[in-house]
Amino acid sequence: MLLHIGLDDTDSPTGGCTTYIAAILVEKLTHLGVNFIDYPHLIRLNPNIPWKTRGNGSICLRVEAHEGIEGEIKKTVIEAVEAFSDYECENTNPGIVFYKGDDIPMSLKDFALKVVQGVVSLEDALDLINDVGGTAIGYKNMRGIIGATAAIGNCLEEDHSYEFIAYRSPEHRCKIRVIDEKSVYEMDEAMRGETFNNVDRKKNRILITPHGPDPVIFGVRGESAESVRKAGFMIKVGEEIERWVIFRTNQGTDAHLQKRIKISDVKRYYPAVIEVEVVSKPKIIDGGHVIFQTRDETGYIDCAAYEPTGDFREVVRSLINGDSVRVYGGVKSAQETLNLEKIEVLKPARIVKMENPYCPRCGGRMESMGRGGGFRCRKCRFKDPSLSKIQSESPRSLALGIYLPTPSAQRHLTKPLERYGKEKSTYKLRMLEEPWHWP
Ligand SMILES: [Zn+2]
Repeated sequence: MLLHIGLDDTDSPTGGCTTYIAAILVEKLTHLGVNFIDYPHLIRLNPNIPWKTRGNGSICLRVEAHEGIEGEIKKTVIEAVEAFSDYECENTNPGIVFYKGDDIPMSLKDFALKVVQGVVSLEDALDLINDVGGTAIGYKNMRGIIGATAAIGNCLEEDHSYEFIAYRSPEHRCKIRVIDEKSVYEMDEAMRGETFNNVDRKKNRILITPHGPDPVIFGVRGESAESVRKAGFMIKVGEEIERWVIFRTNQGTDAHLQKRIKISDVKRYYPAVIEVEVVSKPKIIDGGHVIFQTRDETGYIDCAAYEPTGDFREVVRSLINGDSVRVYGGVKSAQETLNLEKIEVLKPARIVKMENPYCPRCGGRMESMGRGGGFRCRKCRFKDPSLSKIQSESPRSLALGIYLPTPSAQRHLTKPLERYGKEKSTYKLRMLEEPWHWP
């Protein structure tokens, strides 16, 4: 039998991590004798949902096993979730979903898409699990069942990436991570093009380590299981690595930003991709955020680039009225402001001025002799009543193309610039010959 195990919403801002439970389960289920038919999937969900957990990541484990150990597998999963979830946190509402079957039904795949690109209810998830014959276990308000169902439905059949995640044992979680930053920069150099978002060179910061009491020591993201494994082994840490696992994931794929809409279709908590015209000069507000107004044929919307996006704000500030841009982002608050995640300059407006003509005799600048009276040269006094003003265009520094916030401010799902052109359109199931997890 093939068993798909979805997990979500076990973490909280103060600790825990759904991927750590996955890593524990990889070890425990391997001991039970199951065969993993794919890397564990780490599925990031719609980042605009305010009740999300910290990283908004759900997990699916897909295993092949004898019918005889199905009960044992389920018991192991439930025990791990109960042992490692952070039940103290109000926003932590774990969910586990089991689905048995060789193929994932289309209804589950459609649901998975909705959870990345929109908002769905717990009732929808429970109805669907019932329809397809799955099993769901929820804790507290059970919201984690939504993400757990979506993780099973998201088979990562199109664009995807990988992440090598190394973990520390629970007793080390409160200690400061000892990581050799030089090894991170060296890995970044050596693995350029094969990994992404390792460091933010402008901010002089490494990005592979989380902050706070998280079991993750570091995670390296990249294009293939081979490359993230190689990169992960290049990182030097000053503490014992308890375990590591390679995940297959939708990180860095823009999976949430696939639907182009009009301003009138913008909905709170939904991602949005809209082609608009800039209609107000961007202004800086308190806190260093930059705001400007845009429109399309259906209405108006304000867009904002927040302070942490770094010099992305410089690009946004250089916009002028009439610029045609595609904005990517989401609306999180009641203010209906689009929180910019990415911007594409489609057609910068021209800055055209009318100026007095040059003198046809000496080349000097001419002056007007009054309305309809033509022009007179300031230098040689040549007059010509038939001359009129000429057009002159000022150059724009804003080039066509896509602009993103500084890497430290990018979302897990945002496709970084270095991934453009590397999108995968298919997936052929093929596991590494070398180990993809330890222990
Ligand atoms: Zn002249």
